Amino acid sequence: NSDLILYVNLELVNKKSDRRYIVEEMLGQGTFGQVAKCWDAETNSYVAVKVIKNQPAFYQQAIMEVSLLSMLNDKFDPDDQHHIVRMLDFFPWKNHLCITFEMLGHNLYELLKKNNLRGLQLQFVRTFSRQILDALIVMKGAGIIHCDLKPENILITPKVNSAAGVKVIDFGSACMEGKTIYSYIQSRYYRSPEVLLGYPYTTAIDMWSFGCIVAELYIGLPLFPGASEYDVLSRMIEMVGGQPPDDLLREAKNTRKFFKHAGSIYPGNEAHDGLRSSYRILTEDEVEARDSKKPKIGKWYFPRGRLDRLIFSYPWKNLNEEAEKEDCLALVDFLRGLVEFDPNKRWSPLQAS
Ligand code: ADP
Ligand code: MG
Repeated sequence: NSDLILYVNLELVNKKSDRRYIVEEMLGQGTFGQVAKCWDAETNSYVAVKVIKNQPAFYQQAIMEVSLLSMLNDKFDPDDQHHIVRMLDFFPWKNHLCITFEMLGHNLYELLKKNNLRGLQLQFVRTFSRQILDALIVMKGAGIIHCDLKPENILITPKVNSAAGVKVIDFGSACMEGKTIYSYIQSRYYRSPEVLLGYPYTTAIDMWSFGCIVAELYIGLPLFPGASEYDVLSRMIEMVGGQPPDDLLREAKNTRKFFKHAGSIYPGNEAHDGLRSSYRILTEDEVEARDSKKPKIGKWYFPRGRLDRLIFSYPWKNLNEEAEKEDCLALVDFLRGLVEFDPNKRWSPLQAS
């Protein structure tokens, strides 16, 4: 990995930027910089250029993005078959690092919005999920954790033979498994329980986010739209049932932010796998009393409640046919394997496919 980074730095020193790219429109803006649709005068095609903010920390993280993505593209997906965005080039420009990518379409959040947040047909949920899983299998094989899987980072591919498709983008937060540096990762709605709790993490955190995305594609709204980390965690517990296993809670750094611990077992506290736990999640009142500034507890009406009820009773879907009900059952089963509190029991990408 450090060899790769050195190589990237050397490559950069040897490159000079020119007037090759002509900006047409802005595609997106994020924490790391801006993405522009550009005309590439050398290849006569459109490309997406990510212009990274000109600060050292962002520059270094972008070098990581370039290293990991070039490794994924060249070594693990040489024939571009596994639904991972292709990086085309990278170059310095006025203290900014620029990365060029193949031009893709709208992101999945934009697609859901266009659909009035009513969710996609099951057929598309299935196709997109399979393709994201394919990308996750390759990433796991490479030992790469994406760390920011969410609908904004999954893009529709331009229609080839009118078959719908997606690709995973934005390796700007990615890292190698076993070389995790940051503890504050993933976007809040898609943040895994182990990251929330401050427990060592693996590629399994991407599988949690993936589960959240699959559910969101079907229902059209985020599964755990918590206004705070506590809100996200309490929604998980309500939606999935159970809670993270006691050994995880014992070792995690942030457990006390969310849970109350008793020497003995809490009576009637439904815990993981039907085992009784000696932890229980704090009540909203306890959290409000503890925090001097009142935490914003989300008042989102929907979705809340149990996962199976949510999938089955979703108002926009008419489940008339028996076959559709069976599809729903299968979807709930699939989601349960993914939004599993215990990272060791959560499905791996291969198990899920
Ligand atoms: P950030 O790290 O700042 O989130 P991203 O790489 O996720 O940057 O890009 C931000 C947004 O720009 C994306 O959500 C997407 O809408 C758009 N975008 C990024 N790459 C492409 C691309 N290759 N083709 C089309 N749009 C893109
Ligand atoms: Mg992004």
